[in-house]
Amino acid sequence: MKLRVTVLGAGFGGLELCSTLSETIGDNLDLTLIDQNDSFFFGFSKLDVMFGRKPPEKVKIPYSSMVKPGVKFKKETIIAIDPVSKKVATQKATYESDILVVALGADYDFSATPGLAEGGNEYYTFGGAEKLREILPRFTKGSAVVGVCGAPFKCPPAPSEGALMLHDFLTRRNVRDACNLSLVIPFGSPIPPSPDSSRSLLKAFEERDIKFIPQRKVSSLNAQKKVAVLDDGTELPCDLFLGIPKHVAPDVVLKSGMTENGWIPVSRTNLLTKFPGVYAIGDVTSVGTPKAGVFAEGAAKIAAASIIASFKGTENDQSYTGAGSCYIEFGKGTVARVDVDFFSGPKPFGVHLNASEALAADKEQFGSSRRERWFGS
Ligand SMILES: Cc1cc2nc3c(=O)[nH]c(=O)nc-3n(C[C@H](O)[C@H](O)[C@H](O)COP(=O)(O)OP(=O)(O)OC[C@H]3O[C@@H](n4cnc5c(N)ncnc54)[C@H](O)[C@@H]3O)c2cc1C
Repeated sequence: MKLRVTVLGAGFGGLELCSTLSETIGDNLDLTLIDQNDSFFFGFSKLDVMFGRKPPEKVKIPYSSMVKPGVKFKKETIIAIDPVSKKVATQKATYESDILVVALGADYDFSATPGLAEGGNEYYTFGGAEKLREILPRFTKGSAVVGVCGAPFKCPPAPSEGALMLHDFLTRRNVRDACNLSLVIPFGSPIPPSPDSSRSLLKAFEERDIKFIPQRKVSSLNAQKKVAVLDDGTELPCDLFLGIPKHVAPDVVLKSGMTENGWIPVSRTNLLTKFPGVYAIGDVTSVGTPKAGVFAEGAAKIAAASIIASFKGTENDQSYTGAGSCYIEFGKGTVARVDVDFFSGPKPFGVHLNASEALAADKEQFGSSRRERWFGS
């Protein structure tokens, strides 16, 4: 009997889980992978797109190029999930399986920040990054604000990266002196688990005259007054807003009854939810690591090990360590890295590696190795 698995979401977590199951039990696997999109793109490729480093079509990897034993891909939108019966409905079909894995990521609630949808911009959706690609070259003077509208949010370094890369972009076009840059984030430091990374970033902000505003969120935008309003009522002059929208679990997940306080709780040991045979991995969970691809990937490996062990009737000796490496774009073609560990010690800690061109190459390799592993190209 083949193991029937349905995987919801072909992002970082879903792709890694399918790859591990396929290479380990491909001959005995009947896995359906469902995603509403026809192609995958890395979260960080949105930075490449918005600043014109890479054309949008170059960063998209079509799911049609994925050939994995035991895996079939369906481009469908999931409209209902029943975690008790493990039945899933899309706009086209219904799926039933022995194991269900929810890897649907995080969505955005634009309405939570009045004025954002009408007068602001964001670079957390692909469409938002494509729009900014057109808008940024027209910004030549005034105040730009990179601002977080809610926590938790994906990739904690990404707001800092956005500010540093915007500085570079404006400098290259000789308009930096006519622009003010501010960065608003809800933490006390740019990357709380890594004091060294935070210190490095704060130094980079100071050198580049980027105003860092910690412990604050952007609550609304007022296009008429051209201000971003912070959660303490402060009004920041704002001619250009690059926002990090409030994150929420996808609507279909919220309606499934699997969430508590907005996200799916899971066991740290094996990523199982409270529903037998139902796993959840990545940004859609409240497992305790940041919302980032490396952590979704790490969780996928552990969930896959648990699924394989129960299929083979063996003991699963792996558990989730919450460790991963995050790259940080520092501008000028350099990238730093922070190796973070969330669960091994009494509190999360990170080791910082200074920005360099060698780490920029390392980040490229990180992307191409996943592309190779998941798509064979
Ligand atoms: C600007 C930016 C930079 C980033 N940089 C990094 C970085 O350098 N390193 C890093 O590790 N992470 C980075 N991230 C974060 C990273 O992209 C995410 O954390 C990661 O993709 C999460 O993986 P996931 O599998 O949980 O969800 P996702 O990769 O988001 O996958 C979820 C999938 O579910 C699908 N889906 C959702 N709802 C439905 C539905 N109803 N029906 C069908 N399909 C659906 C989506 O189409 C999507 O493909 C960055 C993010 C951003 C925005």
